[in-house]
Amino acid sequence: MDFSISDELRVLRERVAEFVQQRVIPLERVIVDEDRAGSTTTLRALQAHAISEGLWTPHLPKALGGLGLGPMGMCALFREMGRSPVGARVFNCDAPDQGNMDLLVQTATEAQQARWLAPLVHATMTSAFCMTEPAPGAGSDPSNLRTTAKRVDDHWVIDGHKWYSTGGGAAGLLLVMARTSDDPRTGATIFLVPRDAPGVVHVRDFKTMGDELLQHREAELLFEGVRVEDDAVLGAVGQGFALAQTRLVPARLTHCMRWLGLADRALSMCRDYLVKREAFGKTLAHHQMLQRMIAENARAIHAGNLMSFHCAWMLERGLAKDARAYSSMAKTHVAQLLCKVLDDAIQMHGGLGYSEDLPFSIWYRSARAARIADGPDEVHDMVVARDWLMGRVELLV
Ligand SMILES: Cc1cc2nc3c(=O)[nH]c(=O)nc-3n(C[C@H](O)[C@H](O)[C@H](O)COP(=O)(O)OP(=O)(O)OC[C@H]3O[C@@H](n4cnc5c(N)ncnc54)[C@H](O)[C@@H]3O)c2cc1C
Repeated sequence: MDFSISDELRVLRERVAEFVQQRVIPLERVIVDEDRAGSTTTLRALQAHAISEGLWTPHLPKALGGLGLGPMGMCALFREMGRSPVGARVFNCDAPDQGNMDLLVQTATEAQQARWLAPLVHATMTSAFCMTEPAPGAGSDPSNLRTTAKRVDDHWVIDGHKWYSTGGGAAGLLLVMARTSDDPRTGATIFLVPRDAPGVVHVRDFKTMGDELLQHREAELLFEGVRVEDDAVLGAVGQGFALAQTRLVPARLTHCMRWLGLADRALSMCRDYLVKREAFGKTLAHHQMLQRMIAENARAIHAGNLMSFHCAWMLERGLAKDARAYSSMAKTHVAQLLCKVLDDAIQMHGGLGYSEDLPFSIWYRSARAARIADGPDEVHDMVVARDWLMGRVELLV
């Protein structure tokens, strides 16, 4: 394993880190407040700046205006962007658009790319990935998929009910997973559906534990006899589950990197408080129970960083299939550490930590989703245990 990064990437990482520290973090509350009031003025200004600095959509190939970074490079930059909950959006790398763009780059036809990828690259449009359905439909187990796409004459008719289609209310493009046959492996297909197609009903954006933030609004959608042509099929008919896996492994990793950035920032903020605040005759930093809290979280962040880089390193070598269990381990580990770091950060700051004068409580509410979205902890553990029992996972790499 070689986790070293090139000089070029090191410089890029420093530039992104500086941009986030100096420009994004000071304005993140303004961006959130404007978003709640229906405005994107400050976000747009920062995005224009990211474009002028050559830091826009860095995950994409150079031919599409990106920086052609590959998984290791993405990890290195996404950690820096993740230090602010609005950071990824400033560089046009936020979920779900980033994963959707990557999937379109890999599998869409030229015509599909011209229609859908271009506006996503320029951030004139957003997208949503519509897989999950209310019970008894697809959730942890995608084989429960109920949404259907039926062949009628020379087109497809989609019927179904989705929820947790993040950003689906405001999106221009929906990537809709639908059942096209009963085959357990090849029974699903992804369709590129315009959000304004007749029959697509935006039932609501529903409230969750986390605050609504930019594109992160959870939509419930109905598909009522939505008619699409063959050119809406992404990849081939029957490839839906396979494409979802192609999308999810790297997308999961980019989540991990953003979460690591936020966890590291939260722990750094604790340092500032612990070295100044005094209790029982010494600074909090001198109390061993808090030192232990710091050490546990530092250890978890460091381990999560190495696990994520190891998985990215595998992807960089074309070992996506072998990387699956490692990406599951990284995802559960980092999701859990993010929740713990934020919970402990609140604890270490006492009443100030619980107040919204500091952002920990807001971040914590959103972070809780990390243990459910993109597959709950238990499902990732099931994958790890299964692959390990079959002798497919080498732990002492
Ligand atoms: C903030 C957020 C954003 C999301 N964004 C999207 C999106 O953009 N697009 C999309 O399609 N979906 C999205 N999801 C949905 C997410 O992928 C699902 O919530 C997740 O896959 C779990 O499905 P479910 O909610 O139906 O839970 P269920 O399938 O009902 O499972 C409930 C619980 O059962 C347990 N469980 C399940 N399987 C097992 C098992 N094998 N062993 C042991 N325990 C198990 C787990 O604890 C799980 O949490 C999002 C979810 C959240 C919270």
